[in-house]
Amino acid sequence: MGSDKFEIVTNYGCRVFEDEHFVYKSHMHGPAYINVDPILYQPWALYNIGRKLAGPYAPVGLRVSGIVPDVVADPAVGGISFGLMTALAINERIDAFANNSQVRVSYPEQVMHIFAEKEKDDEDKEVFRISRTGFASLCAGKKVLVVEDVLNSGVSTAGVIECVRLAGGEVIGVACLVSRGGATAESLGVPRFDPLIDIDMVQYKADECPHCAERRPMVIDDALGKGKGWALEHPDYPTKLLLR
Ligand SMILES: [Zn+2]
Repeated sequence: MGSDKFEIVTNYGCRVFEDEHFVYKSHMHGPAYINVDPILYQPWALYNIGRKLAGPYAPVGLRVSGIVPDVVADPAVGGISFGLMTALAINERIDAFANNSQVRVSYPEQVMHIFAEKEKDDEDKEVFRISRTGFASLCAGKKVLVVEDVLNSGVSTAGVIECVRLAGGEVIGVACLVSRGGATAESLGVPRFDPLIDIDMVQYKADECPHCAERRPMVIDDALGKGKGWALEHPDYPTKLLLR
């Protein structure tokens, strides 16, 4: 439970489970789960995490570090708070840099923040689209940083990257709070990937799950995956609740 690598989320009251039995959104099973919901209702936590996510993409003091994006983009709903705070943090650094420096460096006047939303396509398949007024045109010909909360298989991140590219934007990197599926810059097809917590959580196909074989109780809290629905289909299997 909550070893040091998870401090950045456990400090804000988030729970990390490493030795239980869960069903993930992907329907895979596994022993570990990180719930970052408590961060979403704490503005200071979001602010501090935004500053950390912004780190590689903002000027520091008089030194220019990394590439400063023109736009930060994220997937609704979970990514919005993190992306917004990251954009704000980069803007703060740009202001501080401009005020302290005699060197003329060309930065965007304001780093913008947009989000992509899940919509149904013509074949009723869920896809990400950038559809709000003015959002897509902000990306055209611009450098875009994609921000995520928890990156699992990378499907929503890939969706946002695709939207940004369709809108003519250049994705300069992906930053996220938690990467738990072993994603890399290469697997995401971007120049750099900056997760604050990077863990490769083991996952099993349901019919190959060793925890099912040992009848380890299934966690059925609503906030911790899809165990509840699974348990309804397996009424004789033992269950447990971890959150109150
Ligand atoms: Zn299982």
